[in-house]
Amino acid sequence: MPKPRILVLGSSNTDMIIKLARIPRPGETLLGGKFTTAAGGKGANQAVAAARAGGDVAFIARLGKDMFGDQALAGFKADKIDTRHILRDAKTPSGVALIFVAGSGENSIAVASGANARLTPADVRAAEAAFPGSKALVMQLETPLPTVAAAAKLAKKHGVAVILNPAPAPSEKLPPALLRLVSILTPNETEAELLTGIKVTDDTSAREAAQALLAQGVETVIITLGAKGAYLHNARTSGLIPGRKVKAVDTTAAGDTFNGALAVALAEGRDLPGAIRFANAAAALSVTRLGAQPSAPARAEIERFLKTKR
Ligand code: AMP
Repeated sequence: MPKPRILVLGSSNTDMIIKLARIPRPGETLLGGKFTTAAGGKGANQAVAAARAGGDVAFIARLGKDMFGDQALAGFKADKIDTRHILRDAKTPSGVALIFVAGSGENSIAVASGANARLTPADVRAAEAAFPGSKALVMQLETPLPTVAAAAKLAKKHGVAVILNPAPAPSEKLPPALLRLVSILTPNETEAELLTGIKVTDDTSAREAAQALLAQGVETVIITLGAKGAYLHNARTSGLIPGRKVKAVDTTAAGDTFNGALAVALAEGRDLPGAIRFANAAAALSVTRLGAQPSAPARAEIERFLKTKR
């Protein structure tokens, strides 16, 4: 079977990670941490996760003309991602994220968006050639909203399904005109609450929040619920698809791995529950490893893990 073509639009960052016993409080200095750098940024993480899960991925993004941008680009090439639509910005640095990871696996992240914030609707239109033939367009909210909206419009024009991961949590409700172009919206619990005002604590509240998002024009909602898995809701079906039990080391990019793998599984023709099982397995594997892109599993690992007993 040829690999399905997946288009990802979004951010690329270099993550600077300190792993330590717990996350420092404001004003506090904690010694004893271990430092690593890793490629990150929600868009890039999703592109890499989709490529490793079996997609033929093209990535639309903007990097600075600096060392971090060079390294990111080399990483995409190593994962056989089509980089022809990645722009280099001579005036703005590449995006950077400073991340604390606690012993418990919890994290705390600060991002300087840099060139990601300068990805424009015109950049998207210049990449229109990448749309025809793509099975899905995967996006997040680390690049400007007008850019995301422009890409959703082009996806509609070319019959490409839009998967929008509304992360990081938006500060206000998303424009209805954008939501109407979204095939699948994939908030986590926090994002679902911010978008609907409904606190997600169990299946009933997950269903209520998802229903409120459906009423805003989205076709299908998948609320990711950390270790519990993900709640699927649309006009035809509703229910929890349980997550896979693993020892959590670092939950950074679990949601990104979920979204990348989900896009591939759907593009290959799996039904929604089957695609979510595949995405849960990929994301659970990513949680067992440190870092964003380094933690995204390869297709063979996901398939092996899916065959193991729950
Ligand atoms: P989240 O963004 O935390 O909701 O996580 C996204 C997805 O990653 C979830 O829907 C799960 O499939 C997976 N996941 C996250 N945390 C864990 C965990 N501790 N154990 C297993 N899977 C997880």
